[in-house]
Amino acid sequence: MDNKGYAMSALSFLLIIPAVLLVTVFVDMSHIGGESEGLVLKSDAVFCTAMDIENQIPVMGKEVLRETADGIVESGDAIIDSRKTVKNVLQAKMCQMSELYQNKMGLEVNCRILSLDSSSDPFYVEIKSTVYVRKDNIVHNETISQNISIERLKDPLPFIKCKNYGGVNMTDTRILYGSSLVAYLNAKNVSNAFVYENASSPLFIKKCPYDPYISHGTLLTLKNCIDNGYFHESNDGACFLCRLEGKAVCPHYGLETFVIPSPTLNSSLISAPCSSDHVIFNDSSYPGMEIQYNLEAGNYYKLFLDNGHRSKYGLPYY
Ligand SMILES: [Zn+2]
Ligand SMILES: [Zn+2]
Repeated sequence: MDNKGYAMSALSFLLIIPAVLLVTVFVDMSHIGGESEGLVLKSDAVFCTAMDIENQIPVMGKEVLRETADGIVESGDAIIDSRKTVKNVLQAKMCQMSELYQNKMGLEVNCRILSLDSSSDPFYVEIKSTVYVRKDNIVHNETISQNISIERLKDPLPFIKCKNYGGVNMTDTRILYGSSLVAYLNAKNVSNAFVYENASSPLFIKKCPYDPYISHGTLLTLKNCIDNGYFHESNDGACFLCRLEGKAVCPHYGLETFVIPSPTLNSSLISAPCSSDHVIFNDSSYPGMEIQYNLEAGNYYKLFLDNGHRSKYGLPYY
């Protein structure tokens, strides 16, 4: 055996070491791979559950708001502290749902509704909540704020206000006051209340698309708005949550719609209680001057508005 042979073997040995090291590393890596796969599955379950819960909050929230409004339409009774009442009902529903996930998926699930309040956009209600989901050492804990649309919910206010004056009826889309609104206004000693005999207003809250509002100055737009029963943003009119409490006005940025007198053959009447719903249903209402927006078969279609509302909707001052 010459020295060369030894030299070669030593070299091969040196080459084997990195190979062994590499294999060791690969084995170790695949081991970590297995563990992290389990980790991924766990965190997927946690994440998906948290997302499910978060997506369900606005759905359940809207359901609770709808049930609450429908209950008032049915009974005519306002609710006290709508924010707390609706929040508590929603909390109970979310607890039930969390429990289902907990039992089905073996996760620790907790959804806490922190607040339910008016939003800066009066066509939405804002819900703040914390969603906590845990599986072993994987935790998802998030505080979120979500806006729920109140569109297509029933306007509860007229049902509350007219309950003791004979109540109101409804069609698929409108609230019909019959004689109750006249009785309600007469009790407030308002002149020319009779204009609101058989008046009507929209049943469902729908956002008026004619924006900016001054475009209502074209009387055809005003007529389309009235025919479709739209609601407008309003500094004075009550927000949806305060309407549930029977308030016509509130400190929040709120909603306004028109209460529409039924068409009349009498063209000479020019002054009557202002047709904005928050004026009609406020403790003290004030008069408006006629705006004739349509004439059909000798019938005059009129609204009565003060200069403040005329300015808002682009209508001429009187
Ligand atoms: Zn409008
Ligand atoms: Zn309010």
